[in-house]
Parts: sequence; structure tokens; C-alpha cells
Amino acid sequence: MNKQITLALLFSLCISVQAIAQKSKSSKKPKRVIFLIGDGMGLTQISAAMSQYKGQNAFMRFPVIGLSKTSSAKHYITDSGAGATAFSIGKKTYNYAIGVDADSMPRPTLFELAKIKNFATGVVVTSSIQHATPASFYAHVPNRKMYDSISTFLLNQNCDIAIGGGSDFIYKRADKRDLASELTAKGFTLINDTILKPFHTPKVIYTLAPDGLKTMQQGRGDYLKQASLLALTKLKKSKSYFLMIEGSQIDWGGHANDYTYMANELWDFNEVINAVLDLAANDDELLIVVTADHETGGLTLNSTDNPLSFKPKYSTGDHTGVMVPVFAFGAGAEEFAGIYENYEIYTKLVKLLKLK
Ligand code: MG
Ligand code: ZN
Repeated sequence: MNKQITLALLFSLCISVQAIAQKSKSSKKPKRVIFLIGDGMGLTQISAAMSQYKGQNAFMRFPVIGLSKTSSAKHYITDSGAGATAFSIGKKTYNYAIGVDADSMPRPTLFELAKIKNFATGVVVTSSIQHATPASFYAHVPNRKMYDSISTFLLNQNCDIAIGGGSDFIYKRADKRDLASELTAKGFTLINDTILKPFHTPKVIYTLAPDGLKTMQQGRGDYLKQASLLALTKLKKSKSYFLMIEGSQIDWGGHANDYTYMANELWDFNEVINAVLDLAANDDELLIVVTADHETGGLTLNSTDNPLSFKPKYSTGDHTGVMVPVFAFGAGAEEFAGIYENYEIYTKLVKLLKLK
């Protein structure tokens, strides 16, 4: 082969390698986001539960992995209020805070910024919809336990779809206020039922339990996947949407030091992640981010007589301060590689979605 031909071939090879690299980098900016939070889901929980899982491991489908540092403004060990608020307002705050900064000042949440840009928004959870993680996206209260007060922030219409438990904080309020009628007047369809059924309006507050939902072991079934897909059928009618899905009870299994409870909740969450990843195959402007607010239980995997097995062992009934993994897929995913503070997830989302 003469030198000129060799050079020409080499040159065209370089061009195509570059083209492939650029394509896999996904030059597209996301217009839609599905943000999945496994409450209390550290790397040990994922390692343990997924090593025993028979189905498809959703976490292995992500091309980009990062680590998030979870401490709150005043404590190395965060709670879920400060953890989710770091994601939603982009600032570290004190434990128990919801949508307010370290000085108790309300700050705009991702949902509020997204609404200005005409996004449709939603939360789908297995806790109550007023629980710390979802509340941080649409409410501003100084203490996470103010569930009745958190419900009233739905009137601001920054969250189009909310599915989970928490009917007591709408229909059985201490102040006897008829919040259901007020929400209906704002254009929401309110559904309070024990089973999930399709709905046909874009703004829905769907409660399925007085407070948190049943556990997987009590027979919750594939509620979280079905509710998430149902929410998406409505949200995707908008060009842009932001859906937060929470595997709320992974944390509750951790607090109870109940490995089987935790693992069942994580397997359920895994199936939700698989379902949304399948959707991403047909949408090159969709970004999927999966992370946790903190680890719960200080879970370790000790050895057993069987060298291929492990014995789960907890070191606390509380949260711990270990970094938690961040998994990203789709448009803008590469932004989530590396080690960073939890509030930088907000910064990255704001930048990618051009929310400011
Ligand atoms: Mg939570
Ligand atoms: Zn917790």
C-alpha cells in the first residue's frame, strides 16, 4: 500500500472514531428528566440486593456513574429533608428543613424553576406525598413534620401530578380546612382510592393510603412502576417534564435493620428504573438520574460459611455519612461523572435544562 493511501485511510478512520465518540457523548441537551431517588440506598444496599436478584440489574445499564457527598449544612449525617432539599434548591440546609435554606428562608425549587419554563412536573412515591423527599420539590416549611401545611403548597400548582399515600393530610386535617375543594378549584382532579387506576386529566393528586403505602412484603405489587408509567403518559404531553420517583421505603427497611424489607423495596425500585430506561431508548432528549439522599443502617456484608454468600449486618438504626452513587443515562448524562456535593446535582440539572 502506498504511503498516500495509508494516510488517507488513517485520516478517515480518525474522523469516524471522532464521530462515534461525539455521538456517544450525546450532544443533545435534555428537555425531559426522570430523577429517581432511592431513599437510604447506599452502595452496600445495591451490592447486596442486586447480587441476589434474578431479573435484569438496572444499575448495570448506566454508562455514567458518580458519587455524591451527602452531609447537611450542620451535620455530617443528613436526614431526608436536608438531603432532598439539597437536590431541590441547590443548597445544603439543616436537618428537617423542607425547601428552605440554612437560615430557614424559602428558596425556589427545581419544580418552581421548571414551571416558569413550562415543564410539566410530578412526584410518584411509596411514602406519603407530603413526606420529606417529595415535599422538598414543591413545599417550603421549616420542619418536615408539618404534613398538613406541606399539602397546602400543592395549591401553588408547581407539582402537576402527585401519586402516593397521605390522604389524611388532605382530607383529615387538624384545621378542618377543605383543602380538597380548594385543590379542585385550582384544576386538580383528586382521587383517593386503595387501588391505582388510569386517570384522564393532566393535574392529579392521587392518594392510596392515609400515610405511607403498604410494603412490598404486604403486597404492594408493581404499584411504583405502574404509577410512574401512568404519570409519564400525562407528563409527556408536554415538550418538557420533570418527574421525581422515590423508592421511599428502602430507607424504612434500613431504619428497621430489616434486610429482607430493604431488599424487596430495592428490587421494586430496580424494576421502575428498568421501565424508565426502556422509555429512554426512544427519546434522545431524556435524561435519567438515579441516586440516594444518604445511606441508611450502616449496612455491611459479612462473611458466612458459604464463601459465595454474605450475612447482612447493620451498624446503626439511623443514616450514615458514606457517599452514595449517582447513575446517569441519556442526554447530558456525562455531567454526572465524578465526586461532588449533593447540591451540585441541582446545579447540573439547572444548567442542562437551562432552568436559569
Ligand atoms: Mg424519603
Ligand atoms: Zn431515613
